[in-house]
Amino acid sequence: MFDISGREWIEEEYLRLHEQGLVQEKDVVKVIGVHNQMCERCLNQSDEWFGTFTYKEQLITYCRQCLDFKMVDNCHYLYRSLMPAKITDNAHVLNIDFKLSSLQQRASDFAKEILEANDLGLIWAVCDASV
Ligand SMILES: [Zn+2]
Repeated sequence: MFDISGREWIEEEYLRLHEQGLVQEKDVVKVIGVHNQMCERCLNQSDEWFGTFTYKEQLITYCRQCLDFKMVDNCHYLYRSLMPAKITDNAHVLNIDFKLSSLQQRASDFAKEILEANDLGLIWAVCDASV
């Protein structure tokens, strides 16, 4: 079964999954991607991280802060799963039988810091990469 808990998709992704029967309309809520000067995906509110262009005589405002994860703009929806992310009491326990690389340790320390501070953060990494 396709797990949609805690997931969010841009319109193109949602429509593809919907067409495949993996996500139903009743399982999501849709929000405009950029609304009231805020990106609904990364919560950016800084003007310097928004870009604009005109397409078919309509001014498009998009978020540059999370652009690498595909464009979010004021003309398309983001689709959010209504199923909350599955976080169990011991979801944070990780048993690994190897030592983290220095960059992995740095990312781990950062994740721990933002979780403890109940803050927001982004770790941008490539899975299965070794440095
Ligand atoms: Zn954004």
